[in-house]
Amino acid sequence: MEKSLKDRLFDLIPPAMIAVVLGFWAYGPRTLVDHPWALAVTSPLIVIVILLLEAVHERHAGWRMNKQEFATDLYYSVLSATVIAWLTQMLAEEPLVALKASVGITTQWAAHLPWLAQVMLVIFVIEFGQYWMHRLMHNWTPFWLTHAPHHHITQLNAAKGAVGNPIELFLISLSVVALFDLDRTAIFAALNTLGVISGFAHANVRADPPIWYSFFFTTIRHHSLHHSTDYESTRSNYGNSLILLDRIFGTYREGEGVLVGQDDRKRLTIWEQTMFPFVPVIEAYKARRAKKPLASAPVQSELADDGNGTAAGATATA
Ligand SMILES: [Zn+2]
Ligand SMILES: [Zn+2]
Repeated sequence: MEKSLKDRLFDLIPPAMIAVVLGFWAYGPRTLVDHPWALAVTSPLIVIVILLLEAVHERHAGWRMNKQEFATDLYYSVLSATVIAWLTQMLAEEPLVALKASVGITTQWAAHLPWLAQVMLVIFVIEFGQYWMHRLMHNWTPFWLTHAPHHHITQLNAAKGAVGNPIELFLISLSVVALFDLDRTAIFAALNTLGVISGFAHANVRADPPIWYSFFFTTIRHHSLHHSTDYESTRSNYGNSLILLDRIFGTYREGEGVLVGQDDRKRLTIWEQTMFPFVPVIEAYKARRAKKPLASAPVQSELADDGNGTAAGATATA
């Protein structure tokens, strides 16, 4: 099908937004760039801009934002920016910085790299860790239980990257970037670049960036395939933003998904997403408790006399 001018313009928006992000952190007014709230403003702003683009050039009507999805997305965006960010800071980054100081690790070489190389280093370090964490989540049940709620989402949009079980959100935010001595603006530029790429990789925007972008960076085509309902497709394209890693490690797969979700495509509530990893343990506990009183209850023996004991027991535990 012939692409319209609008299509072709939209295809260039993801790389153009990366250029704007890099330009801002490299050359923006110091009063803004050095402001303590700068990252706290730019990060949600990127998501909002992409959400607005969804309204202008939608990819699938079935993924269209509605009140229920918006409320869920907002909850997770706030949770990620507050509780999860604080936990990551306290439990991972500060201990890492302390370890770095006590062991005497110095990475002054990193601070002397050109600014853009520092940005690329941060992107690579974060994405390398996320790639293997994500792959582990798809290959080991305890980790899968934390990641499965993200795969239960039944439609995609720019804010969906933040939707998932809180344990997963914490695990996926871990990185060793704190070990490196780097320019603060380079770190923020990298975080915002990843925000643009992963935002578009979940977005309901009709934008298919050119191969010089999609060879390195994850697009909605790659990531919607990862969110597909069929098992084999979910075991590919693990790179949250750097699809290059899938090409290198042999998990890249071409294609695109439209129907997204897990199993029977049941949409989970926030409570179900939060409790999801604990369900097997809770079920096992319930099953044990259901068995115990039945085994010792006098009623059981009476029923057994009637020859209905097994049936009654089976009904009680089902
Ligand atoms: Zn996944
Ligand atoms: Zn996703």
